[in-house]
Amino acid sequence: GSRFSKLSIQPPIEVFNLMKAYQDDPYEKKVNLSAGAYRTDQGEPWVLPCVRKVEAAMAADTSLNHEYLPILGLEAFSQQATALVLGGDNPAIVNGLAFGVQTLSGTGALRVAAEFLCRQLGFNVFYYSDPTWGNHGLVFKSAGFTTERKYRYWDSEKRGIDFDGMIADLKDAPPNSVIILHACAHNPTGCDPTLDQWKQIAQVIKEKELFPLFDIAYQGFASGDADKDALVVRYFTSLGFELIICQSFAKNFGLYNERIGNLTFVVNAQEVIAPIKSQLSIIIRAMYSNPPNHGARIVATVLSNPEYNQEWRECLKVMSGRIREMRELLRGKLESLGTPGTWDHITTQIGMFSYTGLNSKQVETLVKKYHIYLLRSGRISMCGLNRNNIDYVANAIYDVVV
Ligand code: PMP
Repeated sequence: GSRFSKLSIQPPIEVFNLMKAYQDDPYEKKVNLSAGAYRTDQGEPWVLPCVRKVEAAMAADTSLNHEYLPILGLEAFSQQATALVLGGDNPAIVNGLAFGVQTLSGTGALRVAAEFLCRQLGFNVFYYSDPTWGNHGLVFKSAGFTTERKYRYWDSEKRGIDFDGMIADLKDAPPNSVIILHACAHNPTGCDPTLDQWKQIAQVIKEKELFPLFDIAYQGFASGDADKDALVVRYFTSLGFELIICQSFAKNFGLYNERIGNLTFVVNAQEVIAPIKSQLSIIIRAMYSNPPNHGARIVATVLSNPEYNQEWRECLKVMSGRIREMRELLRGKLESLGTPGTWDHITTQIGMFSYTGLNSKQVETLVKKYHIYLLRSGRISMCGLNRNNIDYVANAIYDVVV
């Protein structure tokens, strides 16, 4: 017998499974609404022009090489990334109480953070929103957290946040629970708390001595303004919280497969920084030794160069603007078809995704009959919509709902 014969096959990861099914589907009118990746109105991936320019300059620069980065990554990148999320003039930065380390995209930041919190601080309870991005539970459990809990978030009836439920669940959390919070453009619901609600959330986190961890994978992608999208993180730091921020540059720089992320710590004493960095170095050394250089150099160059920085901010407006336009179009078409139900949530939700409210049976018909690929939860990526396929999609939704 084989040593491996006791292994079972686990269910596939839904979103990657759908992408493969989409790719293999020869049907001409197929539509991919599953992948969380930006597409142009022609349905193509978009390499941001400022990224292309920096890449061209890098390719021509013979002083660059492929030497290893340090374990904690490219310092110029981490400084820029930390300033991007906190704001360069944030007192935490000015007073030397914030620092970042480069990670393997947002997922890597979460994993390193989870290993650190579990092993170095002995935390073992973590909370995420119900629902959340499909990887939070897996990452934290794999890092050693023993107790996985959800706080209520989505009220399917009113298609909005179950705020009372969320607060009640946070009030029940034991001290030192890690509370994973989506800083903006909540995935999958597209619904964020208001600033007033964030104030109440902060109050409970403080009172109950919970640990806030912000996951920010869509900074600038939600509102089109990177500063606006970081508001809640800056609010929490202004209250004096010690916290962790996990940043991804996949969406807002279009650097998906370059795996560029940053793990930011905000602490309340300078003397803890060297020990934290030392422990992070050991975690990362054992996990992947050091991160990739290419994308980190691109982000560092773009953010530190005023001209490129401005161009990048324009790109954020283009991407978020196109998504908003698709929201308007889809809602308008569904309403003008007389599709049963209400569709205003398509335009009130923000960010890359819309939580349509379609049930799993309706989703199945969309996939099987119409070759429109989306998650069983009814989440669609707005980026997969464009002027060429929006009528087809709206008509199909009408057909499965009516
Ligand atoms: N958090 C959330 C909420 C996300 O949606 C994503 C991307 N799908 C990530 C983190 C991290 O993705 P990546 O590892 O590609 O940066």
